[in-house]
Amino acid sequence: MLKDRFGRTINYMRVSITDRCPLRCRYCMPEGGPHDPGQGLSCGEIVRVCAAAAQLGIDRFRITGGEPLIRKDCAQIIAQLNSTPGVREVLLTTNGILLSENLESLLRAGLDGVNISLDTLDRGEYLALTGADALDRVLASIDRCAGRLKVKINCVVSERTGADTVTALAGLAREMPVDVRYIEMMPIGAGKAFKTVPNSEILRMLEEKYGPMAKEGEPHGNGPAVYRKPAGFSGSIGFVSAVHEKFCDRCNRLRLTAAGDLKPCLCYADRIPLLEILRGEEAGMDERLREKIREAAEQKPRAHCFEDPGAVTEELRMAQIGG
Ligand code: SAM
Ligand code: SF4
Repeated sequence: MLKDRFGRTINYMRVSITDRCPLRCRYCMPEGGPHDPGQGLSCGEIVRVCAAAAQLGIDRFRITGGEPLIRKDCAQIIAQLNSTPGVREVLLTTNGILLSENLESLLRAGLDGVNISLDTLDRGEYLALTGADALDRVLASIDRCAGRLKVKINCVVSERTGADTVTALAGLAREMPVDVRYIEMMPIGAGKAFKTVPNSEILRMLEEKYGPMAKEGEPHGNGPAVYRKPAGFSGSIGFVSAVHEKFCDRCNRLRLTAAGDLKPCLCYADRIPLLEILRGEEAGMDERLREKIREAAEQKPRAHCFEDPGAVTEELRMAQIGG
């Protein structure tokens, strides 16, 4: 079992398989790029790092990006991870645009669950937020996945999000067996230009519309979301309050960036490069990778500092880090 200096068990890795994305979310990569095609890891390299992590006890992996489904080998990466010894769960985070057409191959690859990012149900607002008139495609993907896979809808909220937008999104969990989760905007990349709305305020808006929401005891996954279930809802409502209710004491994760670096914490620029090892001598490679993974766990700080954006040292965008 992999432990860090603070006794936390590290059993989860988020893996960004590309920093590219066709959308231009205003808080993530409004101007697109930068993209360095020479840097990206191959399917084999990604699986090799994850296999080394699995040997140390990291048994759940989330594929993210950028938009992971723009890689033609996304399902292949998931299938290979699933057949790697020690891997218990492989999940995907996507904007949902290419999900419908990839669903069958992802299911065949053994995907265990999908998080779909969606911040509004209004077509015009979606276009303004993402730069693409693609809301219908995302909704079709949600519809096709619901009931076949564990589905969570991730909604990032800022001061620019209207109360109607917030409450309408929760309606998805009333109608379908999907969880809708509200994520506090974090001061990372273009997100620095936005203000975070505390999730306590979102809960107030939702209870005003849907009535009291009892807290659920059981977690729904590997993350720190707190779930509530309003009466008559098919799915649950989750709150990921990274800024206002810091959950670093329960942090269980490392990140692998699209450029092949390990990241101990989302908030700080510290990185441990793996590319040289992956493209170097074959003999002893797995042991060298395990050493670096142990080092990354060792370097995990006690907590992030999102409450003090000036102290955040990470300058990469979420799309590069793997949100
Ligand atoms: N393209 C995929 C997607 O949008 O789901 C995967 C990558 S995206 C970077 C992963 C998640 O990070 C999305 O849910 C996105 O909304 C979220 N995100 C991006 N920038 C953020 C920020 N500054 N604060 C909070 N969440 C952010
Ligand atoms: Fe692309 Fe996801 Fe970033 Fe939006 S949040 S620009 S979909 S990587």
